[in-house]
Amino acid sequence: MNHVGTFAGLPEGLRDFGFYVGGVWHAAGDRPQSVRHSPGHGLPVTRIALCDVADLDAAIETARAAFRSRAWSGASGADRATVLLAVARGIRDRLEEFAYWETLETGKPITQARAEMADAAGHYEYAAGVARTLHGDSFNNLGDDMFGIVTREPVGVVGVITPWNFPFIVLAERLPYILAAGNSVVIKPSELTSATTLILADILAASGLPAGIYNVVTGLGESVGQAMAEHPGIDMISFTGSSRVGEKVMVAAARNFKKVALELGGKNPQIVFADADLHDAADGVVFGLCHNAGQCCVSGSRLIVEETIAERFEALLVEKFSRVRTGDCLDPATQFGAIVSDAHQQKILGYIRSGQEEGARLVCGGDTLPIGNGRYVAPTLLADVKNSMRVARDEIFGPVLSLITFRDFDEALELANDTPYGLAASIWTKDIDKGIRAMRSVQAGRTWVNTTIAGGPEQAIGGFKQSGLGRETGVLGVQEYTEVKSVHIALGKRKHWVA
Ligand code: NAD
Repeated sequence: MNHVGTFAGLPEGLRDFGFYVGGVWHAAGDRPQSVRHSPGHGLPVTRIALCDVADLDAAIETARAAFRSRAWSGASGADRATVLLAVARGIRDRLEEFAYWETLETGKPITQARAEMADAAGHYEYAAGVARTLHGDSFNNLGDDMFGIVTREPVGVVGVITPWNFPFIVLAERLPYILAAGNSVVIKPSELTSATTLILADILAASGLPAGIYNVVTGLGESVGQAMAEHPGIDMISFTGSSRVGEKVMVAAARNFKKVALELGGKNPQIVFADADLHDAADGVVFGLCHNAGQCCVSGSRLIVEETIAERFEALLVEKFSRVRTGDCLDPATQFGAIVSDAHQQKILGYIRSGQEEGARLVCGGDTLPIGNGRYVAPTLLADVKNSMRVARDEIFGPVLSLITFRDFDEALELANDTPYGLAASIWTKDIDKGIRAMRSVQAGRTWVNTTIAGGPEQAIGGFKQSGLGRETGVLGVQEYTEVKSVHIALGKRKHWVA
């Protein structure tokens, strides 16, 4: 597949994608196709094939054969690292192209997309290191006539299902780790945002990944995604998306007891204590809400503020929200992006109305933003929210912040943990004892103190409660995609059981 355009301005026509199996591009042929309109501009930008279950079967068979060939599963960690490092270079070389198509398909600001692409390359670099250091264990304490070893082996064929909000960085938080462990993959990206997952195929091939290890089957979740979760030829499924669909995947995966890794939704608290640096906290809270226009699993959408400073903090937020730079997603100055679909925009606006109906006070935002032909919702602050209201309980997945007040530390933590989710939390305080106590008490897989949405490949991520199962990234992120084998080796002459 060739590079298209200069990656500036709008594309001149649709970019067509086939799908990718066994190191070969396949044209859509007579399969139905789906055209993606840019959320930021309302223009058609890409077209993908809607594959069927037969295409999935073929991809899984290819991935299984590639796994059995041991061209990758039997390669040394050093050889896998060489490939992963070349992939990172390939992403950095074509960073503008990746960022451009990611922005067009998702509606996120181009500056954010560029940063995500650079972060993605970092995951491949990090995983290259883990590929070389991945190891098991040995037991030299079993006596002179026994030696024990524990090996880590690739699981086999991993099915990866990704969401539309962070297509490339979510893939980068999984794929290099899966490959570092020696597995083969079949990926079903979101039908809305498949471009960058497909473009990556050429980079993987050029970097020396053997054919058949990376396969992309584009299509709908209810057909291809569901079939992948059920498929006996898939050994493990890595799903990132909503908790609603995650449950379906888990049920389907039970058919052949496949391993499951789930990264799901969140309703993440931001706790602001009265002794926090309020300017810092307000900036963090506004960033935590506006990042990806609130369509972010770790979005800090539940603001839990100490009563004594609530009024002042509210005013600081309004002032900050008014200065968030909105505009064309392709303008590098733009900070705030578009909403993924009409239906989702309506859902967000419906939640704002429901909050008001339940007694919340609309402080700012609350409506669409007119930017070209794009689809936007203004950053919205609802105050006087009770944790029982729908706006405080449901993952709205938009730029809607619900402000709840608390009187003391225990109430703050009770409110923070009163949710079925446990993905992320932020704590703002200058009192180190309080910050650490809060960090220890909050039920969230990712917890930030005096910052928010910080990350990187070194630390494992994942959810508590209904926000997920398993961990991605870090050393654990590679271990997650291995099977552990426990081996006992008898030394010398074995004592016979039958005399
Ligand atoms: P979604 O659950 O609607 O879809 C996710 C993926 O699942 C898509 O590829 C979709 O086609 C596929 N799918 C749909 N139905 C399926 C089925 N029956 N079986 C198998 N696959 C199916 O989620 P979305 O709207 O694309 O993304 C937003 C959600 O993702 C939010 O809830 C967000 O919190 C979550 N998310 C979580 C993380 C994380 O790391 N925890 C990261 C990003 C997004």
